[in-house]
Amino acid sequence: MGLPSKRRTKQSKRDRASHFALKSQALSLCPKCKHPVLPHSVCSHCGYYRGRDVLLLDTKSERKKKKEKKQEDKAKNR
Ligand SMILES: [Zn+2]
Repeated sequence: MGLPSKRRTKQSKRDRASHFALKSQALSLCPKCKHPVLPHSVCSHCGYYRGRDVLLLDTKSERKKKKEKKQEDKAKNR
């Protein structure tokens, strides 16, 4: 196994590490709902992509109804 022949100075180590920082993810806004989304991907909030709705996502009221129904079913089974 290779071993470093010379000691790296603090500064040379820090110079190399100057490129290690992570860059923040580039986000764009959904043209329909203005939710931040990754570029070239479907909006997870409303399912919109390239001028049309791709995903059939429930509306907030539908989600609430589903949740209530689930809880009712749970209560019945007990
Ligand atoms: Zn959206």
